[in-house]
Amino acid sequence: MSGKLSLLSSIRWLALMTVLPGALLAADLQIEHVTIVSPERAAPITDARVRVHDGRIVDIQRAGSATDQPHNGAEVIDGSGLFLAPGLIDSHVHLGEIPGMTPDQEAAHPDIAKAARDQIPRSYLLYGFTTLIDLISTPQGVARWKSHGVVPDMYFCGGAALMDGYSMNYAPKPQRYQGWPYMLIESGTQAPDGIDPAMHTPQAVVSRMKSDGAICVKTFFERGFGEDRNLPVPKLDTIRALVKAAHNAGMPVLMHANSDEAHKFGVDAGVDVLAHGMWNWNLEHSTTSEITPGIKKILDAELKNNVGVQPTIQVLYGIKELFSTSYLSDPQLSRVFPSNLIDWYRSPEGQWFHQSLSQEMKFPADASPAQQELDLNERFVSVVDRVLHTTAYLAARHGRILFGTDTPSAPTFANPPGLNGWLEMHRLLDAGETPAQIFVSATLTNARALKLDREIGTVQVGKRANLLLLRQDPTQTIDAYAGIAKVILNGRVLDPLGLTANSAR
Ligand SMILES: [Zn+2]
Repeated sequence: MSGKLSLLSSIRWLALMTVLPGALLAADLQIEHVTIVSPERAAPITDARVRVHDGRIVDIQRAGSATDQPHNGAEVIDGSGLFLAPGLIDSHVHLGEIPGMTPDQEAAHPDIAKAARDQIPRSYLLYGFTTLIDLISTPQGVARWKSHGVVPDMYFCGGAALMDGYSMNYAPKPQRYQGWPYMLIESGTQAPDGIDPAMHTPQAVVSRMKSDGAICVKTFFERGFGEDRNLPVPKLDTIRALVKAAHNAGMPVLMHANSDEAHKFGVDAGVDVLAHGMWNWNLEHSTTSEITPGIKKILDAELKNNVGVQPTIQVLYGIKELFSTSYLSDPQLSRVFPSNLIDWYRSPEGQWFHQSLSQEMKFPADASPAQQELDLNERFVSVVDRVLHTTAYLAARHGRILFGTDTPSAPTFANPPGLNGWLEMHRLLDAGETPAQIFVSATLTNARALKLDREIGTVQVGKRANLLLLRQDPTQTIDAYAGIAKVILNGRVLDPLGLTANSAR
């Protein structure tokens, strides 16, 4: 009986194959005479032909080899003078919110919010980001992202914050507990009403995220800043247990850490990636931004253990630029934000986060906006220098630097989607990285760290066709990403003109 059934089904399968050979076998896309730049290669392949079928790279040939004819129905692109590179991966984003807008403000301005949410995915693509890793999301967050049509591929980590610690502290109680399904509750801590602490052990939260489809675990070590400086932080044993459970489930652990204390904690706990550079030196009682013996010891431990680090230098600029008097007039912004959103950012309501930070900064009462800008720039000099110096130290010693922006890192409009990635590249150049190092970080290093390297990160047969056609060699200049010729997303060719905000499409 069962033998007969399987025979029948294989006959049906064969019949299908003979009916549909064209549809099954034709290359959807063929790129001719292109120079392939891929991070696993020491040198480019010139004058290559690349075939894409069903959203994957199926063939790469040098010119002059046997089959010169394009397959029936394939879209052919002449890649003469162009470079074919893998699509970029931003390994640290937050896609749930519109930069600078609270959920209440979003509800009050549905038209602006709709235009923003429709544009944000396109803005990432415009700067070459075909894959995004949202470090704190849920299956509902993924579904919402996918509802916007043409969107970069998105993967997510579950956010394993310590109960009432950073960054769940910002939401009011008790609603915050609903928004953090993977929070950790340490033994000896009183669980909130109606929540079973057994569901919030390291093992339990990792199992739940895994079955929800997360590919990674995000946790936090942050005592706080601004008005909340005494937040609870996890015990070392808790994070070691989280790492063990995650590794057993095949998932990397990323930890929010921007201070020397947090970086040291993360290395001791065995996390895979530190999700920020080291710009707060709290253990050091020096005012210098030159690397001290104490800082060097932590960086050397990161190198020795091959810990991944996301410098995320634009996080600091996302605060700093809120005080810039010219920022909202930057023409680059109008490529990535709808004009009604930029207008709203200018309004008193849109300036709310700037206002709240102004009060925290305690500027002199009579300080003009220009004076505030100067004052703030001065205050940021040493913190920016510290992240530049620690990043440079790792980069010079072949540390495992991941490319991530943390867009948007706070409710700031000065972390614009896509553009923020390109700006982060400028900051990495400031730290002494080369365009080639940045290229490897944003492709293969990221793909490996997130265990996505069988799918993406290089231009190789079998990989997903998330590709960029560039007018310049990305290993030579980051300007290659500022005027992309074509973005290819799962085999679909996208024209950057159609991805730009405020264009008639
Ligand atoms: Zn983040």
